[in-house]
Amino acid sequence: MSGHQSVPPYDPQAVEAKWQAVWVERHTNEPDLDHPRRPFYNLMMFPYPSAEGLHVGNMFAFTGADIYGRLKRLQGLDVFEPMGFDAFGIHSENYALSVGTHPARLIPQNIATFRRQLRRFGGMFDWRHELSTTDPAYYKWTQWIFVQLFKAGLAYRKQAAVNWCPACKTVLANEQVINGYCERHPDMRVEMRSLEQWFFAITRYADRLLGNLDRVDWSQSTLALQRNWIGKSEGAELVFTAPGGVQLKLFTTRPDTVFGGTFVVLAPEHPLVDALTTGPQRAAVDAYRRAVQAKDVVSRRVGEKDKTGVFTGAFARNPATGEDVPIWIADYVLMEYGTGAIGGVPAHDKRDFEFARQFGLPIREVVRGGTAEPLPSVSLEGVLVNSGPFDGQSCREGGRAIVEWLASRALATPRVQYRLHDWCISRQRYWGPPIPIIHCDRCGPVAVPEADLPVELPFIEDPRPDDTGVSPLARHREWYFVKCPQCGGDGRRETDVSDTFLDSSWYFLRYPSTEFADRPFDPVRTRTWLPVTSYIGGNEHAVLHLLYSRFVTMALQELGHLHFDEPFPRLRAHGLIVKDGAKMSKSRGNVVIPDAYIQQWGADTFRMYLMFLGPFQEGGDFRAEGITGIRRFLEKVWVLAHEAAGLTPGSPGSPAITQKLHQTIKKVTADTESLDYNTAIAAMMEYVNAVRETGGGSRETVEPLIVLLAPYAPHLAEELWERFGHQTSVFEAQWPGYDEKIATADDVTVVVQVNGKVRSRLTVHRGLPEREVVALALRDETARKFVDGKTVRKVVFVPDRLVNLVV
Ligand SMILES: [Zn+2]
Ligand SMILES: [Zn+2]
Repeated sequence: MSGHQSVPPYDPQAVEAKWQAVWVERHTNEPDLDHPRRPFYNLMMFPYPSAEGLHVGNMFAFTGADIYGRLKRLQGLDVFEPMGFDAFGIHSENYALSVGTHPARLIPQNIATFRRQLRRFGGMFDWRHELSTTDPAYYKWTQWIFVQLFKAGLAYRKQAAVNWCPACKTVLANEQVINGYCERHPDMRVEMRSLEQWFFAITRYADRLLGNLDRVDWSQSTLALQRNWIGKSEGAELVFTAPGGVQLKLFTTRPDTVFGGTFVVLAPEHPLVDALTTGPQRAAVDAYRRAVQAKDVVSRRVGEKDKTGVFTGAFARNPATGEDVPIWIADYVLMEYGTGAIGGVPAHDKRDFEFARQFGLPIREVVRGGTAEPLPSVSLEGVLVNSGPFDGQSCREGGRAIVEWLASRALATPRVQYRLHDWCISRQRYWGPPIPIIHCDRCGPVAVPEADLPVELPFIEDPRPDDTGVSPLARHREWYFVKCPQCGGDGRRETDVSDTFLDSSWYFLRYPSTEFADRPFDPVRTRTWLPVTSYIGGNEHAVLHLLYSRFVTMALQELGHLHFDEPFPRLRAHGLIVKDGAKMSKSRGNVVIPDAYIQQWGADTFRMYLMFLGPFQEGGDFRAEGITGIRRFLEKVWVLAHEAAGLTPGSPGSPAITQKLHQTIKKVTADTESLDYNTAIAAMMEYVNAVRETGGGSRETVEPLIVLLAPYAPHLAEELWERFGHQTSVFEAQWPGYDEKIATADDVTVVVQVNGKVRSRLTVHRGLPEREVVALALRDETARKFVDGKTVRKVVFVPDRLVNLVV
């Protein structure tokens, strides 16, 4: 093409270094936090600063969130996009210990590396508000939150059966146990130990945590994970009477099946086991309870097909049938759920069925119909049989009637149950904020006065945990012994540190207020910027971080510290990227190191390539060879813009190109808004090719493209914007508008049939090829239901009119 000689080569390293320096110098990414016109808080999940540096998965998530923030800025909002470091926790501590360094020395180095990498990839971060959870100025307020919850009765201490990882030498939250193994030690079986632990009473909020999910705008996948974790079930507590008038309370979600209850199973830890066990069974029961202790809570929840258990020798009376049924203990029943006791209904519960088969216990059918055999039938659609006066009633009706009947004899109470349990927040480790409590023999646990916060983490040269279950902090004697703030007597500091998920449960509250040393979050700033406008992160945090943050926010709202109870009204989950079809992992040696790619191709190309891998909310497959296509595209834009910048204004493109421009603006606007970045990029590529085919661009046809491209390739866009003669940042420009009439003038309606029946209609550009129309039809919500996962055997296609999918 002519004119090439005059265009300087595209040198991303030079362009990117230049604009990163300009942004700092001009404070481009620092919104006025006190007087924003239209505040937009663009949050992404802050990273844990590992020694390996920024992971490509972080980069993928941050790029997607950054593009969205930049779009909002170009649409005229004041976007606050902060970044920080989740730097406390066992991950950091274990790594430091494994390489023989102290975490207090290692973490600042890691943070420096992350900061450099985050600047290099071109995020729109407001670095004035950077934070680290390990900074005493931050964890002072983490401890303050603990104190507020403690004073409100929401933090309490109790002896509890907890998951213990012998390698971590600390307790794990249930969420950190994966199929019975430690999430950090995939070959270490987690044990159960009984220890004094601090808990937050999150279960008191279970109903609200669940109910509020109906009014937040979140990805469906995240909502489902969180609803399931909270696990609400409605049912009744039934009373089975054991020898000596002992009342065994049994929770069931299916009171309609009580006539089929042929045995009782208690959790091995149930406090009545000792009293109920008869002489001849004592030895077997004791041995079984010892064996169960070695198992973790999560494997027990999931359960194994081969059930184990022991008969206690005692019987209890079924309140409905009046029969005496045997009392067993088995590890598939847990103390944490319900009452730690169940009535075994083997005909209609899978686990009870397996248990009854294993031990030859009677199986009595009490529901018929609603589902095909074989047993167990668990449908609520059937009709009751073998249920005395309730025979012939539906399960629903009969269940209600049975509860009423038993309640009138004080043998049942309607109840709601949650799978969620209280949050164990103490860790017997070093690298975390000390829990701000002083134990006094006279006063019990006393909160450290707020004026004495933070309780600084003392430096301990060798912070390795031992097997005692006591934190290494107990070894620092001068720190450990302290006067009681209440009575002045001798006291001892709490030596547990808090869970790293407490650090991250409130970081979004701190960002806008990092400069205030005397308050955790400034009331005015908080009213201006919170709740968070948009939150983007991974579904691996659906049940941990996102649940804990919601709980802490609710509690702080109730205590009068916040004006809202849902921190993240809008949340989108991004997908994951894999490498050449396989999950990235160090052991496979297929981890993508972002630095090397950015060095070779530049940050703009790398950002766009990550977003082009697939739909942002689904993820994609990283294949190194694909990156050249993006680089070529940016080079085309570079040449086109230089050529157009040299042309005098007033030479609009042909009507066809004008229409293409309006269509492109429409598509890129909609797709960027819905995070469909891959298709937005494809539309820009298509546009650039169309402009090139007409022989070159003009200012009118290329300048809007630079703005559309700016969220994706911010450095390149700044440079080209300047070449067009602008003195200010492209991010001061306005997102281009489009004329709906021009954009859609060429649209046609295509009828979608499935097996000859009209199922949907699509609006597409005239002349769209068969392949693309079929792809759209298969993505169409309505049509897709009728295809129902079946293979399309034949396609009938009439251009611009009709597509018939034969399945
Ligand atoms: Zn472990
Ligand atoms: Zn005292």
